Amino acid sequence: MSDPGQDLITITQRPPTVFADGHGAWLIDEGGKRYLDLIQGWAVNSLGHSPGLITQALLAQSQRLLNPSPAYYNRPLLDLAGRLVAISCFDRVFLASSGAEANEGAVKLARRWGSRRRGGAHEIVGFEQAFHGRTLAMMSASGKPGWGDIYAPMPAGFAKARLNDIASVERALTPRTAAVMIELVQGEAGVVVADPGFVRELRALTAERGVLLIADEVQTGIGRCGHAFAYEHYGIEPDVMTLAKGLGGGVPLAALLCKEEFNCFEPGDQGGTFAGNPLMAAVGLAVVNEVCRPGFLAGVRARAEQLSVGLQSLARELALVGERGLGLLRALVLPADVAPAVVAAAQALEPVGLLLNAPRPHLIRLMPALNVSEAELGEGLALLRQALNEVLR
Ligand SMILES: *Cc1c(COP(=O)(O)O)cnc(C)c1O
Repeated sequence: MSDPGQDLITITQRPPTVFADGHGAWLIDEGGKRYLDLIQGWAVNSLGHSPGLITQALLAQSQRLLNPSPAYYNRPLLDLAGRLVAISCFDRVFLASSGAEANEGAVKLARRWGSRRRGGAHEIVGFEQAFHGRTLAMMSASGKPGWGDIYAPMPAGFAKARLNDIASVERALTPRTAAVMIELVQGEAGVVVADPGFVRELRALTAERGVLLIADEVQTGIGRCGHAFAYEHYGIEPDVMTLAKGLGGGVPLAALLCKEEFNCFEPGDQGGTFAGNPLMAAVGLAVVNEVCRPGFLAGVRARAEQLSVGLQSLARELALVGERGLGLLRALVLPADVAPAVVAAAQALEPVGLLLNAPRPHLIRLMPALNVSEAELGEGLALLRQALNEVLR
């Protein structure tokens, strides 16, 4: 098959399949083949592909108002901000369009706060293997090996500690530190879950030293981990949080949230042409209302248990290393670097394919829609077993 992407700037290798339609747990390619999708746009489609709630919100809002300009209020912006404040420990919201943009906003807020209240403190302590996005500053903030120099010179002021190692955080803190920035579950690193004890110590340490704790919940937030936000699982409150992926349910929408005392931008410090546009905010409101309706998160936890048990049984049967994760963000750890081969075998299954993601060569990440059914998840596990058998045989 010739490469259909010949007009695109090369950024990654993609299979030659072209996807045309999506409904719920399923993607359909231009040839009509169906795939059970356990990637869901990288944990983006919290309610599956093209759910009625989102298409209705898009249609209704697009017929009323697309963008009055970020210099004016609009109703969906105010309603979504109010809803996020109501369901979280935060008091203030800024809407953006991508996770990297929200994280840049968090770093700017921390630096502004540091310059005002902490004598010019500006350094951000992040974690090895972390992923915070692809802008230059977020590449500096991330701990992805090899990201330090491909676009040199990089923005400075980002130190690194090791996840689940509180002594490494203490060593990284200096009088110039403004914030510690953490993914409570490191998604791109391979679904590495922070220890509850470590997170509680980190909260205590940052409070004691007077530095902000920023939770990057771009991947873990909005129900993904079985609670509205992963910080609830840990029983802590961050000072600042970012959301994106699942918040928009498939459309570009992100948020920066902070407690009142850190609401310290001056007019003009922060903004964006599409920041808070009503079209995306209306979708975010529909997603948040659905995820927070009574019973929804209990359903996520039930599916998470089903997935975890199913993966553990695959691991036992096929002598794999094991599974891990929080809620419906899970990983299956393989005994060798065969994850890309498993991904390819799963997609090639007939008559129905399975879409999986391999963020590391020995590991498969699973991020089904939060409203995936018990039967769909069961089918996904059966297809995964088939693909694993083909590769490991
Ligand atoms: C995906 C991701 C980002 C980047 O989000 P974009 O919308 O791609 O900019 C940042 N942080 C985490 C934890 C992510 O998973």
